[in-house]
Amino acid sequence: MNPPPADWLIYCRPGFERDCAEETGAEILLATAGSGYLLLRGKPRLQFSRLAFARQLIKLAGEVADLDVRDRLTPILAALPETPRVFAALYLETPDTDNGKTLSGFTRRFHPLLEAGLVKAGRLLPPSAAQSGPEKAQGHAPVRLHIFFPDAQHALIGTSQASNSAPEQMGILRIKMRHDAPSRSYLKLAEAIERFLDKEEQARWLKSGMTAVDLGAAPGGWSWLLAQRGLKVTAVDNGPLKGAAAVHPGIRHVRQDGFRYRPRRPADWLVCDMVEQPQRVARLVAEWMAAGLCKRAIFNLKLPMKKRGQALRDAIALIRTTLEAKKLPFHLEARQLYHDREEVTVFLAKSRA
Ligand code: SAM
Repeated sequence: MNPPPADWLIYCRPGFERDCAEETGAEILLATAGSGYLLLRGKPRLQFSRLAFARQLIKLAGEVADLDVRDRLTPILAALPETPRVFAALYLETPDTDNGKTLSGFTRRFHPLLEAGLVKAGRLLPPSAAQSGPEKAQGHAPVRLHIFFPDAQHALIGTSQASNSAPEQMGILRIKMRHDAPSRSYLKLAEAIERFLDKEEQARWLKSGMTAVDLGAAPGGWSWLLAQRGLKVTAVDNGPLKGAAAVHPGIRHVRQDGFRYRPRRPADWLVCDMVEQPQRVARLVAEWMAAGLCKRAIFNLKLPMKKRGQALRDAIALIRTTLEAKKLPFHLEARQLYHDREEVTVFLAKSRA
């Protein structure tokens, strides 16, 4: 086994490798444009929740090159890190690229073989024990084992902490497209809700009878999703709502400029998907929050520009300084979701409680 030349393996949306590497502040060993992953050295601690462009954060433990197609199992088992003694889960992963997809048939076939080998060696919780609660079974915070194949002959081996990573395979949270959704944009808000709110928060904060304002609502995917959950939605857009959103009794369409609209009474939620400069959207959301016009917000910052990492940091800084100047406690998380393209989704709340 070769010791890993890098400390961290991170997955990101292909094309965003440099932006992702930049925000870690670590030394870049590999961040090939379009590869969907990067290798970094240095920085003993990285916090996943602070890395907007990262899909997954993996601490590297080893690397196996020149894998023999006839027996990949033996060298991989030999290269496993010694701690933890027992892993809570096993992920076999590939880059989220066309090349990576050609390897998925192999990883699907190899997974049960490797899983059986690890369980037999006492290094992996049997799938049934993992489902009934890996924390209890292990007696400490669960650690997952990741085997990443940049290509068929080469494996990078590492671990992720459940508390400092994404729970999904490849860090990708797929949402099923509903046939009756008015737009594909609906997927972004559906993913944001799953990503930023746990089930208990969803039940508490997205309740029937609550109110939401949707700025830049047309054709209506976001408004429709909130109305489906029983919220009363004001959909602000000069353009028309379509399909199920146009006729939903829980949606009121207001034809107005989203930057001028203000609600008569504070709303529980502000959501915003207007295609506008990130600074303008950030200022608007910060104003709503500072004036107490909403309790929570989910919004998109569009980043079509060259220096998109900087544009994102500037927009977030503007929100922070506005709310800190007012001494308002707040919680903010920004993430490029799987269904986001050249954009990042932000969750902002008065406080997490
Ligand atoms: N979230 C929507 C959905 O799920 O269907 C899609 C929103 S689409 C990406 C952006 C929308 O923002 C467009 O319908 C556009 O008319 C609207 N928009 C852009 N600037 C606006 C403004 N200043 N005021 C109101 N709407 C605006």
